[in-house]
Amino acid sequence: MSHVRTIEHGPGHKPRPMPYCERFRVSPGRRLRLSKIDPSFKDRRDHEEAASAEIGALAARLRALQSLIYAENRRSVLICLQALDAGGKDGTINHVLGAMNPQGARVVSFKVPSKQEEAHDFLWRVHQHAPAKGEVVVFNRSHYEDVTIVRVRKLAPKKVWSKRYDLINDFERNLVESGTHVLKFYLHISPDEQLARFKQRLDDPARWWKISEADYAERAFWPEYIRAYEDALSRTSTDEAPWYVIPANHKWFRNLAISRIVVETLEALKIERPRPTVDIDAIRRKYHEASRRHP
Ligand code: AMP
Ligand code: MG
Repeated sequence: MSHVRTIEHGPGHKPRPMPYCERFRVSPGRRLRLSKIDPSFKDRRDHEEAASAEIGALAARLRALQSLIYAENRRSVLICLQALDAGGKDGTINHVLGAMNPQGARVVSFKVPSKQEEAHDFLWRVHQHAPAKGEVVVFNRSHYEDVTIVRVRKLAPKKVWSKRYDLINDFERNLVESGTHVLKFYLHISPDEQLARFKQRLDDPARWWKISEADYAERAFWPEYIRAYEDALSRTSTDEAPWYVIPANHKWFRNLAISRIVVETLEALKIERPRPTVDIDAIRRKYHEASRRHP
């Protein structure tokens, strides 16, 4: 991830802000250090109000772009969301998918594997939910659990999970070759923010259902999780399927940054509205002008 704020274009050109899809991307082949990234980063915006018009405009763009993907029915989008507990995956899904037409967009959540899932290779349960042409799918957790919690909690031996980075890269390359655009977001929060969010859940009966003791148990492994994520993101951020580290202590900035990256990525595809399969003028003449004469 670069900390450069602008791109220079030589004399006579005003520097323009670096697109978020470059700015927050984990550079392929580079070693990521999460401690170097400020989870409270707001990109010079003071507060949510300063960003709300931009967030609204991005939601409208997202909706328009998703409807184009659906209409075109040729490519698809897969968004993987990973974070430590209370990192904001649910809120992100609510925001990003809330902007989309439910026809053509869906979310898939991955929990502790079932007996049947455990009896297969780790990609089996994931692959069957990959998006079909025209679809946008968000993975709420993903195959990256198999190199993070599995590693930290020693649910499989190192010789098993350490081979998975290459298997994941091959798997994602296969999706990309088949017309899927893969975007992966790691929501980066601080340990203090996590504790504050756990506390907010305790104070709000509407959120009690989210509380589990496992959250506190996993929190005790924070440094191990950070190391596992640093390895996973460094080894699986590729040109075809990049990782983005999103500063996520501020929920509004997280929503803004992710929406912007998705919009920037989809706009770069220059998807065009499909051409009509019929002669529109002929249809208009045949049915509408005629029916006006003969109601
Ligand atoms: P939640 O997302 O809060 O409903 O919790 C789901 C739990 O399932 C989290 O603790 C995940 O770490 C866990 N989980 C998801 N995938 C796996 C996996 N492949 N192996 C082990 N645990 C997993
Ligand atoms: Mg949870």
